[in-house]
Amino acid sequence: MIEFHNVSKRYAGAAPALVDVSLAISSGELAFLAGPSGAGKSTLLKMIAAIERPSSGTVLLNGQDVGAIKQRGLPYLRRKLGLILQEQRLLMDRNVLANVMLPLMVAGAAPAEADRRARAALARVGLPDRAGSMPVSLSGGEQQRVAIARAIVHRPQVILADEPTANLDRDSADLVLGLLQDFNRAGVTCVISTHDEHFLQHASRVIYLSHGRASEGWQRRPVAEDA
Ligand code: ADP
Ligand code: ADP
Repeated sequence: MIEFHNVSKRYAGAAPALVDVSLAISSGELAFLAGPSGAGKSTLLKMIAAIERPSSGTVLLNGQDVGAIKQRGLPYLRRKLGLILQEQRLLMDRNVLANVMLPLMVAGAAPAEADRRARAALARVGLPDRAGSMPVSLSGGEQQRVAIARAIVHRPQVILADEPTANLDRDSADLVLGLLQDFNRAGVTCVISTHDEHFLQHASRVIYLSHGRASEGWQRRPVAEDA
């Protein structure tokens, strides 16, 4: 479903962020991205959403060349994706329900339908009573669950989550990851970056990044200089 073919990314004036990355993630898979800060995890996730584009190589989603999608095609791509990225914080000046409705409103859904589905999404993440709350009144873990509800409200095929459990205590982190696993079990492909060894130890698939290079299997333990 997601394929990287010899993908490299170099931001202007910086060392390469990704170097000749080739990998494939199948439909229905739950794949973790691991590696130290600066290794290229966010960049890899953003390439799948065409937020960043490869300097060379090809990223395919369902066989479509994501890096070649024109501006007007981006909404169609993004509709397939549920994004939980660092930059996309909740809007603090509106309530939880309005935050979760936003992707549907942007996509042109009728307000009553968006309202109904946003409430269903909040129920799915265990926050049915928080619709009217302002984000600032929620704990960090609750805010992240709202971000998950916002990411899945349009029923994406793929969830891309960048460090979704960063800064959460153990119980909140487990809850957040458990929710993502629930969606994965329901058929949603998930790619999740994390530093959390607790999750990585039990993961069925871990892609390690180090200085922009990807490895798996026997090579997967980070070497000391990267730790
Ligand atoms: P990670 O998510 O593993 O911390 P990133 O993908 O954020 O790694 O970063 C990979 C490398 O690319 C780092 O060296 C980082 O400084 C650099 N980088 C990331 N985004 C940008 C950007 N917008 N402009 C310049 N350099 C960037
Ligand atoms: P509805 O069908 O009314 O949207 P559901 O109770 O079936 O409500 O789903 C609850 C929420 O979970 C909805 O917001 C839905 O968009 C979201 N969701 C996202 N992906 C899935 C999935 N693969 N399976 C079920 N629900 C999903």
